[in-house]
Amino acid sequence: MRENIIENVQKYKVGIYIRLSKEDYEKPQGSESESVQNQRNLLIQYIKQNHLYIVDEYVDDGVSGTSFDRPEFNRMIQDIENKKINMIITKDLSRLGRDYIMSGYYTEQYFPLHNVRYIALLDNIDTYLDSSNNDIAPFKSILNDMYAKDISKKIKSVLKSKKEMGLFVGKEAPYGYQKDPNNKYQLIIDESAAMIVREIFERYLNGDGTKIIADDLSQRHVPIPSVHKKTNIGYKSPSYGLWNNTAIKRILQNEEYTGCLVQNKYNKLNYKSKKLVHLPEEKWVKTENTHEAIVDKKMWERAQILLERSKGTRIRNYDYLLSGLLKCYECKSAIGVSHKTGRSYSYGRCQRYTKYSKLGVCTPHSFNYFKLEEQIINMLRDFCNIYSDKSRLQLVASKSERKDREAELKEKIEYYTNLEEKENTKLERLYDDMLDNLISREDYKRMSDKVVKNRETIVQTKKSYEEQYEEYKSKTKSEDNKKLEKLIDEFLAMENPTKEIIGQFIEKIEIHQDKQVDIHFRFQPFSEMMESQNKDERRYA
Ligand SMILES: [Zn+2]
Repeated sequence: MRENIIENVQKYKVGIYIRLSKEDYEKPQGSESESVQNQRNLLIQYIKQNHLYIVDEYVDDGVSGTSFDRPEFNRMIQDIENKKINMIITKDLSRLGRDYIMSGYYTEQYFPLHNVRYIALLDNIDTYLDSSNNDIAPFKSILNDMYAKDISKKIKSVLKSKKEMGLFVGKEAPYGYQKDPNNKYQLIIDESAAMIVREIFERYLNGDGTKIIADDLSQRHVPIPSVHKKTNIGYKSPSYGLWNNTAIKRILQNEEYTGCLVQNKYNKLNYKSKKLVHLPEEKWVKTENTHEAIVDKKMWERAQILLERSKGTRIRNYDYLLSGLLKCYECKSAIGVSHKTGRSYSYGRCQRYTKYSKLGVCTPHSFNYFKLEEQIINMLRDFCNIYSDKSRLQLVASKSERKDREAELKEKIEYYTNLEEKENTKLERLYDDMLDNLISREDYKRMSDKVVKNRETIVQTKKSYEEQYEEYKSKTKSEDNKKLEKLIDEFLAMENPTKEIIGQFIEKIEIHQDKQVDIHFRFQPFSEMMESQNKDERRYA
């Protein structure tokens, strides 16, 4: 250490600046020599030797040297501005900062401009002295800067090797997982969220769009990932948050749900900045089987294919009323509805054709979706009106009809009861005549046989009318008809029918190659109305 000779000691009001960085903590050796106490001892010793007057001490602990935005450094600059201090001493130049441009700015411009004398003890820098050592200051700064770059690289490479080993080094576990409390590098399943992840994959693969899934989760008050994370650590949130299709898509795209770790997706722009940049896929570090999977690999891959296919072709925020009901008549696969950017309408197309168009397994079956939707909704409305009118008429008609029929049957039963009694009287008389010897035993036998036979026919007829009468009295409406009537009332009251109610009327809609449309209703009366229609009315435009 060169002896600085300080003259006019009285004119200096000294501030000593001490900095201990994160890198210093991680250094295996030398950390002791960099400790706050060591830096302080060295500086105080120097001050004593030179009989200097110390005004304040500024200590930034655990702050990186690459940034100059440090609380105590800022306070020191403030004190310079307020003329509380006019001399700064640090152990070496690197304590001031590791960024040579900023260090240079302070040593060469800021301090001289504010009449501040700066001394870096171990580097023999004294801005007051016209010394050749000062010429080295900018150069020394460059060396410090290179050192910082080197450290930054070293820390990164340690992290990278941990990533390659499949250790989880991220700050937060992906939704559906949590860090193992016993091992922060290990992910374990967070079942309450994993359940939702599974549901999202299953529904997406079954044809629900990301928007539909998102809306449903929001309606069910399923907390969004950021809220879920807070509630997991005991924080009570007043709201569940709203899911959107981006959140669903992000979950569908995350390969980590298959049990592998995908790390190194982002990088800091450089060691001076906190900004993160996306890294290209080939730089990602992927390690298989690092934790328990939530969805299997095949499911995940299928989801990626669907996601890729939906890119730019679908209006994801539109829930098509008939989607899921439309089927290709020829190949039985689903009819997909999509919206091509630049076109003003959405169209339906056989998905098998779309998927394997090159193989020629089916034909497009293309049609203007909204035109068909309008036709079908109108038809459904017509059928509902016709049915409810008819059933109202039937109800009025059958009331009087039933009364007439009931009376008629009652009359007939009475008539045949009388006939039966007459036949019984005949038999009694025949028997008396025989006892009085008015007819022979043979004649009696012959005539009574005839009466008994006659009476049998009468009893049978009477019995059948009695049965009819009972049946009529007990006759009620069938359960199916009741359900249909209720549904019709509900549908006719709706201004805009929902997907759910349409699904209750219609089982499926088959689209033929020749543009014929078959609607398969769930209720017989509607199927009959459909059958009675002219075939040409059942074609789409
Ligand atoms: Zn087809």
